Amino acid sequence: MKLIRNAQVYSPTSLGIKDVLIAANKIIAIEDDLSHMTNELTEVIDASGQILTPGFVDSLVHITGGGGEGGYATRTPEMHVDEAFIGGVTTVIGALGTDAETRSLENLLAKTYGLEEQGLSAYCYTGSYHFPMVSITESVKRDIMLIEKFIGVGEVAIADHRSSQMSVAEMARVASEARVGGMLAGKKGIVSIHVGDEPAKLSKLTRVVEQTDIPISQFYPTHINRNKALLEAGFDYAKQGGNLDFTTSTTEQIIEQGETPAAKALAMALAEGIDISQLTMSSDGNASLPTFDEHGQLIELEVGRVSSLHQSMVDAVLVHQVPLALALASITKSPANILSLMQKGQIKVGNDADVNLLDATTLAIKHVIAKGQSVTVIES
Ligand code: ZN
Repeated sequence: MKLIRNAQVYSPTSLGIKDVLIAANKIIAIEDDLSHMTNELTEVIDASGQILTPGFVDSLVHITGGGGEGGYATRTPEMHVDEAFIGGVTTVIGALGTDAETRSLENLLAKTYGLEEQGLSAYCYTGSYHFPMVSITESVKRDIMLIEKFIGVGEVAIADHRSSQMSVAEMARVASEARVGGMLAGKKGIVSIHVGDEPAKLSKLTRVVEQTDIPISQFYPTHINRNKALLEAGFDYAKQGGNLDFTTSTTEQIIEQGETPAAKALAMALAEGIDISQLTMSSDGNASLPTFDEHGQLIELEVGRVSSLHQSMVDAVLVHQVPLALALASITKSPANILSLMQKGQIKVGNDADVNLLDATTLAIKHVIAKGQSVTVIES
């Protein structure tokens, strides 16, 4: 058992100063004073002056690496479990990306199981950017229904020169397969959507919603902050009930070319009146971040970092004046609810013991507990 004492608890809603008791891998009590619950086997952690938050949920990480758009040498490496733990991330959702030729779903699934064995909570998406969809069984529907770790399909690419230029009918078919596979397995069957720079923006999704009974909440489009026009279209899409995800990994060059930092995009979306339950940030960790010149030549290639998720939450609070409870929700409760991971993303009795302790002033990470185990402890 672990007893965390005198922490300012954000569930992500502020609960005030509380003690939080963890037994095995669950949160079992949240009270003003739980000191009577300890025995000689209880580890007591004094969290005075610290903020206690849910472990962060990163809804898009290329855990087996991604990229390769600049040639073989630009294929990015796998994520190491410590990259997540150092950044306060206790749940990841892994995905393939552009390359479903040299990277496979079998490898993605094995990496997901591996991360889980290392103490992280890990899930993944079947499929990739491309249509027809790759799968391990014979379809997206069967993968989601029969393989526990597959909670949806993605990143399915739209509005991108690297996409398969799917028709509206094809997108509707994929969404319906994911939805039905999810229903049969008690999962959300979310369709993670990679949105590129093309002017079509989110129109393929709104047309599916107009022409079918598939709800807009089935889709989870990401990279909405990649250019100003897409961000504006994203606000309209959210006002129709859609979810929006902002990508936190970036470079100065990418921002110069028109990307809005995720922290600022979150502040703008809230100022537009969009509900926090529809707004999330994800790192796109281990993706390639290529910058091309006006002739399409690769001039720079960086690798996305999972730790950018925490940094963007801090920037949202300290630079863009987003209330802490809302900034936290965008990387905890909101993604967990959108993905129907009901044990995740909230400090709540009965939930998994995924807990971060942050410095109350700087919001720096001090201690990370994943499934009840201390996985990061920063001294002083
Ligand atoms: Zn993407």
